[in-house]
Amino acid sequence: MIPLCVPNLGGNEAAYLQECITSTFVSSVGPFVDRLASLTAEAAGAAHAVPTSSGTTGLQLALVAAGVGLGDLVVLPSFTFIASANAISHCGARPWLMDVDAGSWTLDPVLLRRMLETQAERRGGALRHKATGARVAAIMPVYTLGQPADMDAIGAIARDFGLPVVADAAAALGARYKGRPVGAMGADLSVFSFNGNKTVTSGGGGAVLGNDPVQMALVAHLSTTARVGPAYDHDRVGFNFRMTNIQAAVGVAQLERADALVAAKRRISATYDQAFAGLAGVGRFPVPEWAESACWFSGLVLSSSVADLCQKLKIQGIEARPFWKPIHRQEPYRVAPATDMAVADGVWDRVVTLPCSTHLTDAEQSRVIDAVREALS
Ligand SMILES: *Cc1c(COP(=O)(O)O)cnc(C)c1O
Repeated sequence: MIPLCVPNLGGNEAAYLQECITSTFVSSVGPFVDRLASLTAEAAGAAHAVPTSSGTTGLQLALVAAGVGLGDLVVLPSFTFIASANAISHCGARPWLMDVDAGSWTLDPVLLRRMLETQAERRGGALRHKATGARVAAIMPVYTLGQPADMDAIGAIARDFGLPVVADAAAALGARYKGRPVGAMGADLSVFSFNGNKTVTSGGGGAVLGNDPVQMALVAHLSTTARVGPAYDHDRVGFNFRMTNIQAAVGVAQLERADALVAAKRRISATYDQAFAGLAGVGRFPVPEWAESACWFSGLVLSSSVADLCQKLKIQGIEARPFWKPIHRQEPYRVAPATDMAVADGVWDRVVTLPCSTHLTDAEQSRVIDAVREALS
């Protein structure tokens, strides 16, 4: 079976894990946690990084640090993984779901501005959603498939409406927006995931990135039970969302090879795009002019049945899968405030992801390409 996407653990992972055992630093303090923080900040072009237990908990910490709380609304594109919405819910807030732009599958800034202008109003010093009265507390763009959103446009809107921006950059390590890395794209805080299916993994884990030292100190403080001083004093309701040294050991070994891993993802994606160009009924993932995608997943957009292609590939020993079902179609979020979803509804069930592990061989990729061509002919 050629799997969809499995970790590439051929570096120092095993040696570093052994170091954790030998040194007894297996928990949430240790040299690998510190190294992971500095390597992640460096890779993202951010001043600071706080490692977390997952991308989801990183998003929650970032939202709380940005001031999101009970009853608030956070603007979110509907075409994302459910964890983006769940992180908002875990803060006691709700997503305000918006459609994506067809040319990037990321939050549509034209729609965003129109919604904030027409569906929200300034009342008592806060921006409030007219229909529900809820405070609009933040904007969460998502870097779909490792592709940055149009952050200059979104940043300008955020400034006009006085809203913080927390970016779900879960799979975007290595991406660039107009030449700028993730930590310098314009979000106040950005969040990576190091889950097992991401390009760089720590088994499970994540990181919050930012440039404001005060805000990042708050993120770190919240992540570790909001403790003050050496005794058991805590100044607010904190969390236990720290990454362990064991997770960080794997993550550091991966980050040492991050450039090569991202380059492999881009090469695989370009090879598929080239092979399928001109094939009837097949489109590629969008490539907006502002983005240099990290190409987390590769695949194609079909006009025919996704399930049919996945089944035909499975018989050939090739794993292919559909992609995210939008949030407005998920049971817990059916009643969330939402815009018209013409773009998300038009695309989500036509996306197929294809094998794209970073150590996928040329021979394996050729086999996938031949099988797709045959299945669609
Ligand atoms: C992977 C992912 C997450 C969740 O990260 P975890 O580390 O699995 O919690 C959130 N958002 C997006 C867009 C993702 O791809």
